[in-house]
Amino acid sequence: MTAFRIVDTGSPHVRTILRDMEKFQPVGHSILNKSSIIKAEPALIYDSVNVFAKGLHALERSATLSLANLSCESETPWGDGSSLFNYINAVEYDGLTGPIKFTEGKRSNFKLDILKLRNEELYKVGQWTPDGQINITDTQAFFEGGRPNITLKIITIEETPFVMLKDVSNLTGNSRYEGFCVDLLTYVSTMAGFEYEIQFSGDGLYGLIDTDSGEWNGLVRELIDKKADLAVGSMTINYARESVIDFTKPFMNLGVSILFKVPQRVPTQLFSFMNPLAVEIWLYILLAYIIVSTTIYIVARFSPYEWHNPSPCHNNREIMENDFTLGNSFWFTIGTLMQQGSDLNPKAASTRIVGGIWWFFTLIIISSYTANLAAFLTVERMITPIESAEDLAEQNEIEYGTLEGGSTMAFFRDSKIETYQKMWRYMESKRPSVFVPTIDDGVKRVLEGNYAFLMESTMLDYTIQRNCNLTQVGGLLNSNSYGIATPIGSPWRDKISLAILELQEKGIIQMLYSKWWKNTGDVCNRDEKNKDSKANALGVANIGGVFVVLLCGLALAIVVAILEFCWNSRKNAQTDRVRRYSDDEDEDEDGGSGSEREEAELDEKGEKVLRPRTPRPQQSLCSEMAEELRFAMRCHGSRQRPALRRNCSRCTPGSTYVPAATDLPQANGENGLLPTVEFRKSSVVQFDPANP
Ligand code: GLU
Repeated sequence: MTAFRIVDTGSPHVRTILRDMEKFQPVGHSILNKSSIIKAEPALIYDSVNVFAKGLHALERSATLSLANLSCESETPWGDGSSLFNYINAVEYDGLTGPIKFTEGKRSNFKLDILKLRNEELYKVGQWTPDGQINITDTQAFFEGGRPNITLKIITIEETPFVMLKDVSNLTGNSRYEGFCVDLLTYVSTMAGFEYEIQFSGDGLYGLIDTDSGEWNGLVRELIDKKADLAVGSMTINYARESVIDFTKPFMNLGVSILFKVPQRVPTQLFSFMNPLAVEIWLYILLAYIIVSTTIYIVARFSPYEWHNPSPCHNNREIMENDFTLGNSFWFTIGTLMQQGSDLNPKAASTRIVGGIWWFFTLIIISSYTANLAAFLTVERMITPIESAEDLAEQNEIEYGTLEGGSTMAFFRDSKIETYQKMWRYMESKRPSVFVPTIDDGVKRVLEGNYAFLMESTMLDYTIQRNCNLTQVGGLLNSNSYGIATPIGSPWRDKISLAILELQEKGIIQMLYSKWWKNTGDVCNRDEKNKDSKANALGVANIGGVFVVLLCGLALAIVVAILEFCWNSRKNAQTDRVRRYSDDEDEDEDGGSGSEREEAELDEKGEKVLRPRTPRPQQSLCSEMAEELRFAMRCHGSRQRPALRRNCSRCTPGSTYVPAATDLPQANGENGLLPTVEFRKSSVVQFDPANP
């Protein structure tokens, strides 16, 4: 920037005049626009008045001045006018605007100083005179390219990725540092025109005011004391700081958030198919199953429409049966609950109502279970103990803290929000301290576990992108920005602000952000991992429990079958003894001619034949069981008491059982034809082996 001036403020003579002027400056007038600087116009007027006075004085000394009344209308000039003009022309005087001399009424021999702006000040670099002469005394000033030779002292704090020390050891000066702020500083210094020298701050703190003493620490303290020109780094702009130091326009926005360890995955459970419904729902379903089964059993007993004649061909109204025995009722409800149905069907309105309601219940339960099961088995579950700042405030198990002496600490201390006040009270009183000296210490403490670190989202993003074991919990608790801090009234503030705005508009700050946050190689690939885990097929660990239940069910069925078998064998053995006793009595009555009697048996073709009755040996429980087992395995064996034996489908086609002739009621055998008796499940009609 080049300027011209007519008043040479460097001249001692001029300075004396200006100092006097300043003393006698009339109140309310400002001839001097700044201390010791006068504008060209008042300076020229000052010199004009002086020159006129000097000319008049000279005229008065040479002749007596004759004054005359003059009119603007008359053309008659003042007699002494030309003499005064000549005397003024002859004045030579060193005024505020330099040496004054006139040639034919025009000022001659004056000069203009040529100035250059350097380091915030104007420097005289040459002179111009009306005869066309330019005398440059400092030619170098025109070739500096506007880069003033000033070095600013910059203080900062080592903070990844803002300012970091390079690993290389033999570096000196600013080349030792790297990071987002170092790159930003390179741009800003070129645009604002300064050299700089980076230094780390003494106590390693950003700056916090002690509420008792009112004293600041950290970078803020050093700026207040004017020990540095700028503080560059992740310096948060806040109200308290803004009142003691200046900040440039912000270059980055952020907010406080929570850094926490990635929650553990829910361990895969063998019985995870139970997870879709809560334990109490399973219990309620069991209870509902028992209640509904019992209800349908009772209702079916009461309802006359559930009773029917088991043999409609024999119009015997005295024998009625009911399908809904207790066992059948439970079987009906479990069948419908499992969506399989059963061969039982309610006939009465009352039992149908119970059945209908139960079907509706099972419809809802099974659909809810199926829908939830899909979600539970495919989505990876996490155990997240905290999900927000409120969660943190509500508990005491997980410790939490902030960086010592930073704006985050100040945020919690000065906040009027109840949750944050509560958190501050906890942090302040917690021993050992939950505050950490550096961000790295905070991150380490989080990794050790059971600690949540309240930090700014910029550093948090950087950290979680590089460590997949860490995550952000909840959103931002506030909204802040980073700016470059200067001592109050610093001339650099506006220039740097302009530079920052320009860098923002050109997208350079965005590029720097990408360079330092995203484009470094050590970013951990969290998304890929998630994709993999979502696509995982279900393993034995997830649904193996279903197989366990199946095996248990089969084992139970076998145990029950054995019990049924034993129970049946025992009953047969008992009946055998009773029959034997009654047969012996009959034989005694017939005179001991038992060999004449015959028994009904089925031949290989399944046809009934009457064979002479073979004498039966007395059956023990063991032999009865052995015989039953043989029959069950091979489907043949002796059939002494067919009424109690089971039919084998291979031996007798269909389910019709043809009793032996001796088992048939004698009343029906009028024309030698044997009636058939159907076996039906019935709760009323029971075959009594002792009285066939
Ligand atoms: N940027 C903060 C400050 O200027 C430091 C980090 C923090 O307090 O979380 O104080």
